[in-house]
Amino acid sequence: MAETIELASRTGAVKIRPNQKLSLFTTFRIGGPAEFMARVTDQSQVEAALEWAEQMDLPVTSIGGGSNLLVDDAGIPGLVLSVRSTGKDAEKLVTVEEDSSHVRIWVPAQLPISRLGHLSAERGWSGLVWCAGLPGVVGGATVNNAGAHGGEMIDHIETIDVMRLTDRRIETWPAEKLEARYRYTVLKYAPRPRDVVVLGVTFVLPRGDSEELQRQAREFSEWRKQAQPTGACAGSVFTNPEGTYAGYLIDKAGLKGRSVGGVQISELHGNFMVNTGEATAEHVRELIAMIQDEVYRQFEIRLIPEIEQVGGQ
Ligand SMILES: Cc1cc2nc3c(=O)[nH]c(=O)nc-3n(C[C@H](O)[C@H](O)[C@H](O)COP(=O)(O)OP(=O)(O)OC[C@H]3O[C@@H](n4cnc5c(N)ncnc54)[C@H](O)[C@@H]3O)c2cc1C
Repeated sequence: MAETIELASRTGAVKIRPNQKLSLFTTFRIGGPAEFMARVTDQSQVEAALEWAEQMDLPVTSIGGGSNLLVDDAGIPGLVLSVRSTGKDAEKLVTVEEDSSHVRIWVPAQLPISRLGHLSAERGWSGLVWCAGLPGVVGGATVNNAGAHGGEMIDHIETIDVMRLTDRRIETWPAEKLEARYRYTVLKYAPRPRDVVVLGVTFVLPRGDSEELQRQAREFSEWRKQAQPTGACAGSVFTNPEGTYAGYLIDKAGLKGRSVGGVQISELHGNFMVNTGEATAEHVRELIAMIQDEVYRQFEIRLIPEIEQVGGQ
């Protein structure tokens, strides 16, 4: 078996590990091996890993918290770049410019998105408190245009910084280039392998009342514990169709609690599936197809998956 390779970067060694189980890097706890995996926590480490992948002629797949992914049982070929970090390390990289009414912050892609929600509340920056309690990191949430409680990532993004895979050039994109709408950006739907890695995001935020924002942050975090299953899952399986909710339709169709193999539709929330221990990506795909057929049969509405399938041959 291939051995771990160490690459030099300005901020320390980057380890390229062969054959890493992706079930350990996804909140669904599903997924075969990454052919190679590099955990990177800043721009120079991303650059070193991409240069190596180019030399080896390997495709690159970037992941963040793995909280919206269904990774194939066959795993992901090539190099998987895991762009995530602990809140404390990533928070040191946040930069802030303030005036009396607004604040402009640059946030690294690897910062946990929930930490950003709490941090903004503590500092009295409005507009991101809805992120409190959300799984994942800033890079993945930006690609997905994640949102909750009436807010979404695109609301306050000014620009994003990306590194091109082809020449490792850094570009700053205006928010409009994402063409973001409900759970959509051009990055999320770009065919793989994709050409960019998100490095960081600049937000412009209005000022707010820190105490009130912290109260909301606690409330939003608490709400998640009550309303959503805490087991291994990947968030909402389907996007909400125009004018209704996927969870409501699944519930109305009498499907809550149904399972295929090791995956079950949550009893708590119809739009969540929970890995009860031995779930495979194939089980999830079968359950998705069963739900789509049944909801279509009963309501003539075709549910579209929100979770993204990655990997396989
Ligand atoms: C319990 C639970 C509740 C959830 N609730 C919500 C909710 O309320 N609202 C909501 O919108 N979502 C929700 N989600 C889904 C998920 O949390 C969000 O979409 C999340 O922000 C995704 O971030 P991530 O870092 O986990 O991304 P990942 O799942 O790792 O990746 C998402 C996408 O981004 C790409 N990507 C990741 N990092 C980079 C990078 N640095 N450069 C380039 N591409 C990258 C990946 O290739 C993939 O296409 C929930 C998930 C769970 C498990």
